[in-house]
Amino acid sequence: MTHLEIAGVAVDTRHFIGGERLASEATFTNTSPIDGSFLGEIARGGQTEVDAAVAAARGAFAGWSRTAPTERAAILHRIADLVEQNLETLAMIETMDNGALLRSHLRGVMPRVAHNFRFFADYLVNDLGHPDFETRGHNNSVSWDPSGVAALITPWNAPLMLATWKIAPALAAGDTVVLKPAEWTPLTASFFADLSKQAGLPDGVFNVVQGYGKEAGAALVAHPGLSRISFTGSVPTAKAIARAAADNLTPCSFELGGKSPLVVLDDADLELAADLAVEQYDNAGQVCLSGTRLLVHRSIAAAFTEAFRTKVESLRQGDPRDPETDIGPQVHAIHFDRIRGFVDRAVAEGANIPIGGSPNSELGGLYFRPTLVDDPTPGSEIVSQEVFGPVLTMQTFETDDEALEMANGTEFGLAAVVVSGDREHADRITRHLVAGTIWVNCFFVRDLRAPFGGSKKSGVGREGGSWSFDFYADVKNTVVSPNGWKE
Ligand code: NAD
Repeated sequence: MTHLEIAGVAVDTRHFIGGERLASEATFTNTSPIDGSFLGEIARGGQTEVDAAVAAARGAFAGWSRTAPTERAAILHRIADLVEQNLETLAMIETMDNGALLRSHLRGVMPRVAHNFRFFADYLVNDLGHPDFETRGHNNSVSWDPSGVAALITPWNAPLMLATWKIAPALAAGDTVVLKPAEWTPLTASFFADLSKQAGLPDGVFNVVQGYGKEAGAALVAHPGLSRISFTGSVPTAKAIARAAADNLTPCSFELGGKSPLVVLDDADLELAADLAVEQYDNAGQVCLSGTRLLVHRSIAAAFTEAFRTKVESLRQGDPRDPETDIGPQVHAIHFDRIRGFVDRAVAEGANIPIGGSPNSELGGLYFRPTLVDDPTPGSEIVSQEVFGPVLTMQTFETDDEALEMANGTEFGLAAVVVSGDREHADRITRHLVAGTIWVNCFFVRDLRAPFGGSKKSGVGREGGSWSFDFYADVKNTVVSPNGWKE
């Protein structure tokens, strides 16, 4: 089997290496979270395929790194054009593969995939640079040179969006790329590989090795032929990658998990606070940035809970292809069981669960009801570990200091949401929150010029805007003396 079919479109199930398709003897089975249906057998790579992909990427590096930035940018724009022309196909493939809403893929996610390429192409040509400066008559000039082969390892919750958030700046910086997509959601990366070839990206500049993390992923990050590793995923995997990368001193960028607070101050607009809280169930709660810990001022907790409950009750759970659906299935049975385990253990500890708390028995399969755990035991796993499902906790506070202590009281620091009607009050809180991104009276407003990443265990480094180029490129300073010239 070399292809599977989704909605009448053929998706190649083989690796993409040096511009060619390559099968493996071993395969893994890909099923749809929507209804458990069989999608196909996917080529399962390991050391051999990784060696071939890194060799292809290294072989293509000399040509791509010396391609003029304007020409690199033109190819990235052609990729964006093709993503836009194939938007509906990409959206449907992704929905079948990871179960996220088709509506979101059509309106937000796939347009953002195209934007990833346009943004970094334009940034390369128009914005990347630093003014020259002088030292005792010597001129310093800073440049961003291509660094080599970037290995990119990505998760399943927003597969193509998160992969291209790395592919686009790496290619713009003049690096060549080997991507290892998540094993639960390999399909859009494969379809995208064909688009990249069609856009005129030279063979070997972009490669995809499919397979399990412990096989293909582990072989890739330990490879001595890499110049960079960029990883989005969980903390335990990041630790394993850091250990493997240490042997070659390969620089790593890590975008990891979160347990972000959503702080509702006593002067907040309650309707807005409840709307923002409901948004934390987006993508069936499988969003790293979600503010999953609702921290609400005690004086408004009862009113907030009622406003929130009314909104949650109006959410429609069901088939993610239906435009009326608000919450789809979890990505995989293993992940579904993990979420259920967290909730069951919280119940066993005596937690109060006023909303949800169980699988949706009418739908069966991988559909878990949006859930609120009220007043969990401080320090218990449900308030300290990432569930990565439609499960929020709610705790109350009396003073700002208490709110800050609770908000900052986990090992994570990815994001935070603050809801307040008073700018100075909001400011006093945001100043002391530890997080890579803070949203005040809003959520998920993302600008690709902004630095993106996590504090504490939520990540290492920042990507986005110039920070992406600082990571993927070798930043060089050339100092030219006024002396010694023969003219
Ligand atoms: P994961 O760490 O299990 O897997 C991520 C990727 O790493 C997959 O492609 C997997 O195959 C690969 N992998 C696993 N073991 C490996 C190894 N030893 N060597 C190399 N690669 C290996 O994470 P997941 O369950 O796919 O994703 C969910 C996690 O990702 C959550 O913690 C979530 O918060 C995080 N996430 C973070 C961001 C962010 O931007 N900070 C965005 C999305 C998801």
